Amino acid sequence: MDIAFDNSFHREMEGFYAPAEAAVPSAPKLLVFNQTLAATLGIDAANVDDDSLAHLFSGATLPGGAAPLAFAYAGHQFGHFSSQLGDGRALLLGEILAPDGRRFDVQLKGSGPTPFSRNGDGKAAIGPVLREFLVSEAMAAMHVPTTRSLAAVATGDRVQRERAHPGAVLTRIAGSHIRVGTFQFFAAHFGAEHVIRLSNYTIARHFPELAAAANPHLALLAAVIERQCLLVANWMGLGFIHGVMNTDNVAVSGETIDYGPCAFMDRFAVHSVFSSIDANGRYAYGNQPAIMNWNMARFAEALLPAIHAVNPQDVEAAKVLVADIVEQFRTIWLATMRQKLGLGAPHSSDAGLIDGLFDALEQYGPDFTLFFRALATLLRGDASAMQALLPEPDAMAPWIASWWAQLEREPLSPLERAAAMDAANPLYIPRNHRVEEVLGAAEQGDLAPFLALLEVVRAPYAERADWAHHAQPGPAEAAPYVTFCGT
Ligand code: AMP
Ligand code: MG
Repeated sequence: MDIAFDNSFHREMEGFYAPAEAAVPSAPKLLVFNQTLAATLGIDAANVDDDSLAHLFSGATLPGGAAPLAFAYAGHQFGHFSSQLGDGRALLLGEILAPDGRRFDVQLKGSGPTPFSRNGDGKAAIGPVLREFLVSEAMAAMHVPTTRSLAAVATGDRVQRERAHPGAVLTRIAGSHIRVGTFQFFAAHFGAEHVIRLSNYTIARHFPELAAAANPHLALLAAVIERQCLLVANWMGLGFIHGVMNTDNVAVSGETIDYGPCAFMDRFAVHSVFSSIDANGRYAYGNQPAIMNWNMARFAEALLPAIHAVNPQDVEAAKVLVADIVEQFRTIWLATMRQKLGLGAPHSSDAGLIDGLFDALEQYGPDFTLFFRALATLLRGDASAMQALLPEPDAMAPWIASWWAQLEREPLSPLERAAAMDAANPLYIPRNHRVEEVLGAAEQGDLAPFLALLEVVRAPYAERADWAHHAQPGPAEAAPYVTFCGT
């Protein structure tokens, strides 16, 4: 099978990466392949047998035209700067130009050590690989910008973590793998000239229209801030908790990247944390906008040498961009919530209504996903779904009454509005207890439950009678859900 690689980073950015190779897996076996995504990318895999796919997407066979490399990057991890991170367990095979003209990275994750592995083994276990596959595909189905998953291949090798696990390799597709931490690495070690080169490359790849701006690097800062605001507003609207919002896990493309200890909350609680390594709750649900803001301040710092080189006075403008994030995020967040609540044009009363909703959600703790579906069901004249979510049937009656009053602003019929809300509020998300179940089965060699759940999360909006159990949260009395870092 041929992949038409066009490796711009390799060609244009020498000195910004380290050439690297994949380890040879002992017995590659295809676990799952994303034919739909392959077709979007212009990869003609329809007639390729599983064995060939397993070899190509585990690093056993290097496809023609690949120019494998590991990216250098740094990053603030839990607030502390690490000047030397980089792809320690990932390998860029190359870039492809999709038929629609978009450029994508094709990267193997878990394919063995690179020059940046430090003490790590460069490998990945099957659980985290399939978790990333499942959750990234769910995010894509819910229209959240995200890296995608093309393939997962079992390597036949064991990977030692707290115990031994079957190893696997994920093929990740991304608009690019340029991170805030990539800029931080070159700002910290090399200075303005390198930052300018990286910024120019990033602009050409993601924001070509900014090349003509008076100060393109300042314009890049503004564009990346906007995408991060949109991204985190999306996450917040879905109850998604990324879990490790370190600056090395922030893609400047605005895609969700590096699915590790991520999770969706069931019952609403603003302080929800699932990651075993986030003891202080730095990356709790409710902290995500503030952390995004902090990460963008670090991005601005890394870009400053480039911004300053074009015009020293623009340093002040960069500070203003960062200072304005709180308000910019708030505006985007209110728009996200208006859509979830079936409200149309903005109105001065939106902020009060939406803030009041989150106070009530915190007080009564309904299932966050089902709550919005139950609101739409109210519009259809059925209160039973809402009542079932609340500690007392009328617990949220005052808030619901004020929401209802605001709906009258637009002449939409209740049924039309309910349909619009259902199209904006998923019914099926990767529920934590289900994810654990299917990953446990996959680890034992049974992929069927994983594939069934994958089908469910790829169709999140339309209700299906035979999927009723997939809509339900896990048992409330279960021990708090904990996820472990995606190594
Ligand atoms: P993460 O917290 O997963 O985003 O990873 C942070 C850093 O640790 C990155 O530089 C990774 O490449 C590196 N890393 C994580 N796991 C491994 C591993 N098993 N082997 C080598 N490097 C790793
Ligand atoms: Mg990472």
